[in-house]
Amino acid sequence: YAKRNLRGQTVLFSEKHAAEIRTQTQIERHLLSADLEQELIQLFQPIVDLETGRVLSFEALARWYSPQLGLVPPDVFIPVAERAGLIGGVTRILLEKALREMRHWPEDIGLSFNLSAHDICAAEGVVRLVAIVNASGIDPKRIDFEITETVMAHDFIKARQSMQTLKALGCHLSLDDFGTGYSSLSYVHRLPLDRIKVDRSFVTDIENESASKVVRSMTGLCADMGLKSIIEGVETPEQLGRLRQMGCDMAQGYLFAKPMHPSMIAAYLADTNRIKASPAA
Ligand code: C2E
Ligand code: MG
Ligand code: MG
Ligand code: MG
Repeated sequence: YAKRNLRGQTVLFSEKHAAEIRTQTQIERHLLSADLEQELIQLFQPIVDLETGRVLSFEALARWYSPQLGLVPPDVFIPVAERAGLIGGVTRILLEKALREMRHWPEDIGLSFNLSAHDICAAEGVVRLVAIVNASGIDPKRIDFEITETVMAHDFIKARQSMQTLKALGCHLSLDDFGTGYSSLSYVHRLPLDRIKVDRSFVTDIENESASKVVRSMTGLCADMGLKSIIEGVETPEQLGRLRQMGCDMAQGYLFAKPMHPSMIAAYLADTNRIKASPAA
């Protein structure tokens, strides 16, 4: 009986696995024939200065609007694009779109842009980024490239080299999702970073005494190393209050705004500035 049960589980597992592979292959097939220039879109989420309450920048968050599959989130299609060898083109289209969008923004508002492992580790990846930034006419100082820790595990030497190239151009660099996965403090001081983005999972647990100690020491460490700290995923006023006490520099999350359509940005900025200017607020 146990044996049959075991066999049953094995069959179940492999069926699930096969279904996942089918889905991946299906996504890849649609992605390969997609009109990416048309179907790739971006939402933008503000990053707020905790001291002044001012909006400092917007992070571009990619979506693939596939006519066959519907709205596909980046966690799903970016890995497929990487595997299919499409990521170079995907990044180019997304960066060009984001930089075009910036022309409608006030000069003091920056852009945060997520890079994938290929963009930072492949030989031609960073050269292409530099060319796109230069062609855009946007001041590189307004651009912050976000890199995740997993990229560091990929090819540290190449990643550092690419980061130095982007730095030399005048761009800023952030380490995204800090504290997850391959987290290692040993490399942070060996990279030309400006900011650390503390992963959302730490904020979710901030009511918890030990999680809050971790956040406090991470922001303290950032300050000691001359890095700015950004906290991701702030959803409640209580979380915000605690983060303020801990000396976090910047924050991002649904409490301030969900990722928004670019057409909403001007109104959002006008609105937040009005609230801040009003003596009643
Ligand atoms: P990320 O860069 O860490 O972005 C933060 C993610 O958390 C976003 O998910 C955002 O919508 C979500 N988020 C923001 N505030 C909150 C909050 O208060 N609560 C909760 N529950 N979630 C919040 P999204 O847009 O699905 O993006 C997922 C990931 O996909 C990003 O994580 C980033 O690693 C990657 N990604 C997004 N756009 C691009 C892109 O253009 N290129 C590359 N290579 N990766 C991208
Ligand atoms: Mg990011
Ligand atoms: Mg993140
Ligand atoms: Mg992430």
